[in-house]
Amino acid sequence: MSSIVPRHCLFCLEKTHTHTDLCHHCINKLNLNQPCCQRCASPLEQAAITSTKQEVMLCGNCLSHHFHYDRVYSPFTYSEEMRYLIKKMKYQKKIHFAHTLATLFVQKNHIIKDFQLPQAIIPMPMHSKRLRQRGFNQALELSRFFASHYTLPLDYTSLIRSRHTDLQAGMTAIERQKNVQKAFKMAAPLKYDHIALIDDVMTTGSTVNEAAKILKKIGIKKVDIWIIARAGLEN
Ligand SMILES: [Zn+2]
Ligand SMILES: [Zn+2]
Repeated sequence: MSSIVPRHCLFCLEKTHTHTDLCHHCINKLNLNQPCCQRCASPLEQAAITSTKQEVMLCGNCLSHHFHYDRVYSPFTYSEEMRYLIKKMKYQKKIHFAHTLATLFVQKNHIIKDFQLPQAIIPMPMHSKRLRQRGFNQALELSRFFASHYTLPLDYTSLIRSRHTDLQAGMTAIERQKNVQKAFKMAAPLKYDHIALIDDVMTTGSTVNEAAKILKKIGIKKVDIWIIARAGLEN
């Protein structure tokens, strides 16, 4: 019954009963990603939105480019607090933060317009070399929580990373695109029409786009991307 034992908030050290590492107050201070592009979830400036009609709001990038994924769901922006949580999880092996981050996603996903559940959850695969360095795949840890929470099948064996790629921090959008070319392949077919690919952060989207490309190629009709926080290249 660990859930009834109060924990202490990571940020303000107050006792918390939220089933996460943060208290209600600090959760409510996290930057929600709204308004955002209804395709790639890129944060939009309130001032840039001129339409008041119920039409789909898209960013300039989505208006001028074709992407293989259908829709990115991201309830948070990559604020300082999110960066802290995500970096601790990835680089200091705080795997339990994945539980906190996934809980925050399900608590705040009501801000996402037309949120639709897929037929299955697929974590962004990690190459075995990176897996040995890091010890775990954070996308798989997030996916385990989502699959259990939404009662959806979890498939982490069919889509695999066939090529080790360099870490992308500091790369331009073009460099990122080249870096991830042909980085994925299918180890087994998938018989779904609609899946969600899970990752922690998205910056330019070149990696998820490359993965979505191969999923579309094998006949999956709809590929959504679920991430915790949406970053820009400046992050
Ligand atoms: Zn707090
Ligand atoms: Zn967009």
